[in-house]
Amino acid sequence: MSKLRFKVVEEAFDRKAIPVEIPEERPEAYYAKYVFNRKKMFEYLPKDTYCALVDAIDNKRALPREVADSVADGMKRWAIDNGARHYTHWFHPLTDGTAEKHDAFVEHDGKGGMVETFSGKLLVQQEPDASSFPNGGIRNTFEARGYSAWDISSPAFILDKTLCIPTIFISYTGESLDYKTPLLRALNAVDNAATAVARYFDPEVRHVNSYLGWEQEYFLVDESLYSARPDLVLTGRTLMGHESAKNQQLEDHYFGAIPSRVEAFMLELELEAHKLGIPVKTRHNEVAPNQFELAPIFEEINLANDHNLLLMSLMGEVARRHNFRVLLHEKPFAGINGSGKHNNWSLGTDKGVLLFAPGKTPMQNLQFLTFIANVMAAVYNHNALLKASISSATNAHRLGANEAPPAIISIFLGSQINEILNKLENSDTNDLLTFGAKKGLKLDIDQIPELLIDNTDRNRTSPFAFTGNRFEFRAVGSSANCASAMIALNAAVARQLMEFKVKVDARLAAGNDLTHALLAEIKELISHSRAIHFDGNGYSDEWKAEAAQRGLDCETSVPKIFDAYLNPSSVDMFKQTGVFSELELQARNEVKWEMYTKKIQIEARVLGDLAVNHIIPVAIRYQSVLTDNVFKLKTLFPNEKGDKLAQLDLDTIERMSAHMATIMEEVKKMVNARKEANKIESEREKAIAYHDNVVPPMDIIRYHIDKLELMVDDEMWPLPKYRELLFIR
Ligand code: ADP
Ligand code: MG
Repeated sequence: MSKLRFKVVEEAFDRKAIPVEIPEERPEAYYAKYVFNRKKMFEYLPKDTYCALVDAIDNKRALPREVADSVADGMKRWAIDNGARHYTHWFHPLTDGTAEKHDAFVEHDGKGGMVETFSGKLLVQQEPDASSFPNGGIRNTFEARGYSAWDISSPAFILDKTLCIPTIFISYTGESLDYKTPLLRALNAVDNAATAVARYFDPEVRHVNSYLGWEQEYFLVDESLYSARPDLVLTGRTLMGHESAKNQQLEDHYFGAIPSRVEAFMLELELEAHKLGIPVKTRHNEVAPNQFELAPIFEEINLANDHNLLLMSLMGEVARRHNFRVLLHEKPFAGINGSGKHNNWSLGTDKGVLLFAPGKTPMQNLQFLTFIANVMAAVYNHNALLKASISSATNAHRLGANEAPPAIISIFLGSQINEILNKLENSDTNDLLTFGAKKGLKLDIDQIPELLIDNTDRNRTSPFAFTGNRFEFRAVGSSANCASAMIALNAAVARQLMEFKVKVDARLAAGNDLTHALLAEIKELISHSRAIHFDGNGYSDEWKAEAAQRGLDCETSVPKIFDAYLNPSSVDMFKQTGVFSELELQARNEVKWEMYTKKIQIEARVLGDLAVNHIIPVAIRYQSVLTDNVFKLKTLFPNEKGDKLAQLDLDTIERMSAHMATIMEEVKKMVNARKEANKIESEREKAIAYHDNVVPPMDIIRYHIDKLELMVDDEMWPLPKYRELLFIR
């Protein structure tokens, strides 16, 4: 009997909710308690320092060097007052998580003792020994060092008694080695480009901000059950497991009552998040059993993304205190929904106007249409790139796999916007404009209602949907760093707006008035990017065929999807916007391919081990029980009766042997495929070999193990089953 499985099931079953201490104060009292925000800056910094720092943040200027020492000193005092002993530059290398190296504040005081100090030099810049972070070869060819530099636009915070300073991470020659650097560049590019266009409508606009509201989906699994699943521990997903008889068919989990253990976890997570200034707001059950979602109020992208990364690590910590493990993998369980991280994205001016929100006046609506049309064009021109930006070995199970939506980017607009765009495209620019006696120019398109009816009833199958005043990029994976998608999207839109501005200006120079010039260019964009617009069922097979006909990128092999980063239009776009040089793009793709290979390699190793050392031995043991039984039956009932009675067992024995033989054969194939692939020098070719030759046997092995699970005595099966993983909470 499999003792471990029954022990962990029992443990999990007996667990009660862990009580959470609820503060007596309301959230406003402890919100951002551990954040060095303006209130704390004002309290801890001399007035001149405060003003200089705020000015640098607001006007996106570099912090004057002489101010840094004073900022560091105030920040240290605040940190120590809140129990901190260490500080760290907190950055986002090209791995899945964040990186930090802690240093204590202590220094010799020259008298044999210690003082706690923190200088501007240490605050502003450090040189982490970064040789073991992914760099795609950049640091082999150039300087071996990298350095991290303070991002003043994201406030420092205290986590586990350590002062964390958000930083960018770059090589000595200036190439980015992280997600934050290109994100800041992309946000800067879209700010400049969108501001220039927004000024057609309001010359006083100074900045355009880019906003992100992420919705984080995740699974929770009891810690004991988790510990008995080596595949979950090592790869974050189940590499085998037959579907549970009941899973999400009854649709009884979504928005259902939150189980008490989970609610306690959520409560503590929210409290901790609020103390760290993460404005989490929404929580609910998701569609699959044991799947949940958490969403904050949207924020400026750079901050929102820091908050998402911080939250993901916080989730892991808090979950442990509640005897859960968080699964952020995009597809921890086959056959039920995977987890995404919808990126709600919008642009807004510093004067508070959301540029994707319909307005009340014709001119406001022309602005709205200008930005919508430019987004359409950007997404159309770079649909392959946007797909690459959300692709990974793990998200591949959620997009483009057997049971998932296809790996194709399209935009959902809804019938009202669609109608307006059709009308615009098909009318003469002059017809759209009428001159009212006193009111001046009038745009003859129907009022765009502020609340778009069909957007409340949204199309859930679209990877990129317009939802009233924002776009929702839904293809992003739950474990992803949102920066990847946000870099590509904002850069593509920036590039598109730059081009738009040049064209509109040319029309103005040729004597067109502004409205005519804008309308003419919008019309061009609508016709140009028609193919990206699709409001139908994105999960249907017909769409796959149609998308291919429309010329949208339909590649499903992740290593090949990454090629989109290096196609000439992407390289040019990233260069024009100053987001990536070609060298950076090449280096980063090397990292992507390498990561892909490594993830599959780890999965393949774990699967091979589980198959050969866990599953087959158990199957053989059960088979020998059956064999024994056959002998006994035949001894008891000689002749025909015995043959007949033993037939059932004999059939099972034979079928089990067939499954086991296939498993062993495919494991051999998988191992050989790995050996062959590992010989390949090029990271791209190696990743392709893993995709083409290692993954297929893995799928077959799983299929046959899942069949064995249905045959072997439940008491012998070693791994917690789907029904246990998904329904015990
Ligand atoms: P859903 O109905 O898709 O679950 P919610 O209404 O819960 O969506 O909102 C999802 C996220 O979208 C939240 O984080 C919310 O703050 C964010 N959001 C709302 N408006 C905007 C906007 N204009 N720009 C960016 N994000 C936004
Ligand atoms: Mg949503």
